[in-house]
Amino acid sequence: MIQLQQKTINLECTYCHTITPLRDFKGQCPACGEVIVEARYDLGSVNVDSWRTGLSRRRNPGLWRYHDVLPIYDRRNIISLNEGNTPLIRSEALAASLGLKYLYIKDERQNPTASFKDRQAAVAISWLKEMGVETVVVASTGNVAIAYAAYGARAGIQVWGFFPELAPNDKLREAAIYGAEIIKTTGNYDQTKELAASFARSKGFFLDKGIKSVASIEAMKTMAYEIAEQLGDDLHDGERWRSPDWFLQGVSGGMGPIGVGKGFRELQSFGLVDKLPAFGIIQSTGCAPMVEAFKRKQRVATPVENPRTVIATLATGNPGRAYELLYDYVAENGGSFISASDDEAFNAIRVLARYEGLSVEPATGVTFAGLFKLVQQGIIKPNDVVVVNCSGHTMPVEKRILGDQWQKLVDMSETGTAPRVPEEGFASVVRQMGDRNLRRVVVIEDNEEAARLMSRILESSDNCQVYLAHNGGAGLRVIQEVRPDLVITDLMMPDVDGFAVLDAMKNDPSLKHIPVVVVTAKDLTMQERQKLQQQAERILQKGSFIDDDFLSLLVNRLT
Ligand SMILES: *Cc1c(COP(=O)(O)O)cnc(C)c1O
Ligand SMILES: [Zn+2]
Repeated sequence: MIQLQQKTINLECTYCHTITPLRDFKGQCPACGEVIVEARYDLGSVNVDSWRTGLSRRRNPGLWRYHDVLPIYDRRNIISLNEGNTPLIRSEALAASLGLKYLYIKDERQNPTASFKDRQAAVAISWLKEMGVETVVVASTGNVAIAYAAYGARAGIQVWGFFPELAPNDKLREAAIYGAEIIKTTGNYDQTKELAASFARSKGFFLDKGIKSVASIEAMKTMAYEIAEQLGDDLHDGERWRSPDWFLQGVSGGMGPIGVGKGFRELQSFGLVDKLPAFGIIQSTGCAPMVEAFKRKQRVATPVENPRTVIATLATGNPGRAYELLYDYVAENGGSFISASDDEAFNAIRVLARYEGLSVEPATGVTFAGLFKLVQQGIIKPNDVVVVNCSGHTMPVEKRILGDQWQKLVDMSETGTAPRVPEEGFASVVRQMGDRNLRRVVVIEDNEEAARLMSRILESSDNCQVYLAHNGGAGLRVIQEVRPDLVITDLMMPDVDGFAVLDAMKNDPSLKHIPVVVVTAKDLTMQERQKLQQQAERILQKGSFIDDDFLSLLVNRLT
């Protein structure tokens, strides 16, 4: 095992490939002036296999377990809050409803300040400590400044956070509590970055260069190391590491995927993985300079002057050279740039929260909305191993997602000064709380898995009570008994099939008004389709439950 103090770290220019030792680096390539450079580690005679197997035995979890390939010379300078080592959660309900076998969610919300920016802060602040920097200026839409403020507090480094107008005040307060100086501008993110830069210059403070900083890219690459290690554990019993087929992320400046790409490339050069994942780069429709350029097959993006999105985290209008790097990566390794609207993102947040129990911030909602599209467009295939960067927690923006009806108030003032609520009043309060104006839905489906999935999806709609039946005969009995507001039925079932259920319902005057949605995996004949179109409200193909149409159909039917 190499010792950190003897580690050789060089920087390679991403443009002309000139090598400069890290210790001599002055912020740009001495040959061509390019500011984006990549760290290269001389690992000398390290045996990669014993390094890999030694990791789990000898090292603590967290991103510093990969310290051999991080740009810190002396481990005493490491400032850590146990960042990294976030779980790679295998999705069940969401995966099934998308028809995916291997959908993994890299839960970056579980970092110390609830976003993957903690990786960046940990490495960058440690690096600043090693260089003896005392004050750092950072422009941020929120999460970077929060993370820098927390790690800065631990390191005794003063953080100045510059925020654009769009950044939610809740996020600014979160940064302020760690003692950061907070400056909010009336400009957009790109203008705010310029202001921060001129402030730093005039004060002689260190300016964090974000994506152009070696520490940031190196920090983000640790996600690739963790994913490869975790996928290897899950799919190969830890015998080896592996790359996913896809890595997806909602992108602003692009630091995440650039770092992750570098990480997988490094792992491939060590012989630890055999390929690089394709990238799904997802931007907010109101600020999607990369997506627009990609559509035009251009390697240079045209900046978006006025981002039209409330998703501040993703509002980088001018991606600069970062887009070129990602464009080249996708050209070489596959992938796609696509956008999702704010509404699609908010819808995805609800779906994810209710299917998987994960509450995410809007930027991550954009990522999942993009996932749905890539699957629906057939770009991501059913057997692909997909990893989604679940980049940040909703907190503190739930209120934008929940609307007004998210809580029920129990008025207890009537009970006067009595220390207890009288039995009578209490019962009526409980009754009221239970009465959510429920709509009844009967689901007839013989496949257990599909039935479970459908009732989960339905029950995630607030006011829905689901009655399950596993064959047509039982289904009809339930329908007669509960008189539902909606029936959803499979077609192919033993004995009484979906066609027979429909016939029976349409022949019964008391049932014929109840709308029926047919969900089927069957290729329908022309005749069957015509008959169904007369009797059923809607015919849906299985495996398209996330379809916006399906959700809006249910919402319209049920509210
Ligand atoms: C910063 C951030 C992003 C965008 O990341 P980049 O890789 O820098 O484009 C996405 N989600 C969250 C939660 C973030 O904080
Ligand atoms: Zn150069």
